[in-house]
Amino acid sequence: MMLDSGHGGSDPGAVYRGRREKDDTLRLTLTVGEILQENGIEVLYTRTTDVYLSPYERAVEANQAGVDFFLSIHRNSYPTDNEVMGVESLIYDLSGLKYQMAQEINEQLETVGFVDLGVKARPNLVVLKRTRMPAVLVEAGFINSDTDNELFDSNFQDIAQAIATGVLDTLENAGVLKEPETLVEQTKYRIQVGLFRNRNNAARQQETLEDRGFPAYIDQWKQYYRVISGEYDMLDEAVAAQRRLKRAGFETLLIQ
Ligand SMILES: [Zn+2]
Repeated sequence: MMLDSGHGGSDPGAVYRGRREKDDTLRLTLTVGEILQENGIEVLYTRTTDVYLSPYERAVEANQAGVDFFLSIHRNSYPTDNEVMGVESLIYDLSGLKYQMAQEINEQLETVGFVDLGVKARPNLVVLKRTRMPAVLVEAGFINSDTDNELFDSNFQDIAQAIATGVLDTLENAGVLKEPETLVEQTKYRIQVGLFRNRNNAARQQETLEDRGFPAYIDQWKQYYRVISGEYDMLDEAVAAQRRLKRAGFETLLIQ
């Protein structure tokens, strides 16, 4: 899953009495990401620091990483201060898993104390339109509502937890997330053929393997990209495949 913290760098987003949207979104996004990771979700970020990225670059990043879901976190604003408050989620159209996820996130945020302003279709938002996977943009309260800011600051951890729970519940209900037990049962033997810091180098290794007729995919592991060639249920199958790779001149490592 890719988490996208709205705005950044030269683009502060909405600003209210010195409070900048880009700071709130970054802090919240990183905390949501931590919770998701603790729950077994592989999390990537469009940004983890105060840098500018165009909406288009964010979508491209998600597409290139091949993530299954995209969640963008923002804070809302209204032309008049302290007139509107609450959370809303935006999606490309009102259908599919993204719709369920957006509704679930809103419901969870309502339990923390936000007004639920609903889920809205925004087919023209670049991060929703250009991403090839289900994408949700959450507006976590209005930055020019003192009530929402007060809630944001005093219940910060609960808000992050609510968003994460919305994501996790949706994936569990859809059967996308498996129970940890089944995951253990399904542990397979995998053959690692290279560990890289740079994704391009991993892609090159993947290509070399594929050119020579071996299966290959890239998998992110901590801050590295590892190239995996084949998954096997049985240890003897994995060892045999490992031998073929070694004969072809590849250095291999058997992992689970
Ligand atoms: Zn925004």
